[in-house]
Amino acid sequence: MRPIFSPAPGLLLLGLCAACSPDAGSQSAFVAPQCRFDVDREPELVEGDVNHYCRDGYRYDVSYDLCVDKDTAIGPFPNEMVALCRECGLHACEQTDWPVNQARRMRGPETCPHGTQETDLGLCVDDRHAYGPFSAEMVERCIDNGGGEYTCKTMRWDRRFAEAIAAGIDPGNSMGPTMLAGDWQYPLPLDHGLRADGFGGGHFGASRSGNAGGHSGIDILAPIGTPLAAVCDGTVRYAGWVHGYGNFVQILCPIPSSVTGGASLYASIAYAHLDEINVTTDDAVNGGTVVGTVGKTGNASADGLHAHVHFEIAVHDTLHAASVEGHASSNHAGSSGGSKLVEELYAACLDPNGFEPTTGPVNKGRRIDPFLLLSCITSKPNLTAPPSALQSQLHAWSEHYAATTFDVDVGL
Ligand SMILES: [Zn+2]
Repeated sequence: MRPIFSPAPGLLLLGLCAACSPDAGSQSAFVAPQCRFDVDREPELVEGDVNHYCRDGYRYDVSYDLCVDKDTAIGPFPNEMVALCRECGLHACEQTDWPVNQARRMRGPETCPHGTQETDLGLCVDDRHAYGPFSAEMVERCIDNGGGEYTCKTMRWDRRFAEAIAAGIDPGNSMGPTMLAGDWQYPLPLDHGLRADGFGGGHFGASRSGNAGGHSGIDILAPIGTPLAAVCDGTVRYAGWVHGYGNFVQILCPIPSSVTGGASLYASIAYAHLDEINVTTDDAVNGGTVVGTVGKTGNASADGLHAHVHFEIAVHDTLHAASVEGHASSNHAGSSGGSKLVEELYAACLDPNGFEPTTGPVNKGRRIDPFLLLSCITSKPNLTAPPSALQSQLHAWSEHYAATTFDVDVGL
């Protein structure tokens, strides 16, 4: 017998997801077919299939064209799958890897994953990306061409890069980093990646309890006492104690016109949880001026939460607007300068380098992901192992970012 409400395939994609809601008429227990966790084809798992490379410990699921282990399927997955996941009210939508049956169900039965199309070269693509599993040979060539070992072994590559690889072209040299390294300076003399511990992830947009917008900066891991440099020539707007942020320094700088399309935009840059503060409100700073040292003050003082600098950049149209930026974690308002910078940064740096976050947004309102902006206009040190006490907290940049013309873990 036909169910009372049986949406045609694709109906949910139009946003008509009444069936996902508990208020779907008398069918409150009804779950739209696309949202169910049961799967209607038997998974068929093979190991070591050279035409469908899966990371160590994962097997290729022939029935669903996924790389899976007992619990998870390797992502990241197409935006339309993520949107469907959200509409269905599922909880792991923002994660890179998904619970295995969620991935099977959201992927759909077609040759290519839901929201993608097959090209003449046999790739499954959407506007920006191509989706695996790719062959062992393609993965190897992806790594040889500087795609980054971690990224090459995920399910999502930059589309132009994947198309070159699939066509037998080695894009590495011809693409080359564009607009990387510029006027600004990296805030730390070392690179231990991002903090991740029992208190949560340190990446941009990481979930934070009581803050639906998520994490507004990045938590760069470093031992207590590591000097923190001003990243640009500017002025100290505030240096002192702020509830939650502990010892806090805020500096104001113009953003280099090379990434603003010529527009005059200003950044308010926050360094939080410092051990010591080395500057005073209204001081002038140059790129490299030590503004303080890494610490564990404010809400970073909890046991088990490792020392890091919470580093945050809010973008404004005028110096005055930047000067009244409060960096309140609950305020996610946008600014026209923030939107302008995102647009120009894509054109000047992100698109040409296939550079993107894999686990968070590019911006949240007026805040830009600091790692994206810094990588485009500074030279960071190479990723190195932190002291043993911090080693378990390190998340390599490549776990959160991908690029096709450079390795995100390497200094440039
Ligand atoms: Zn933080």
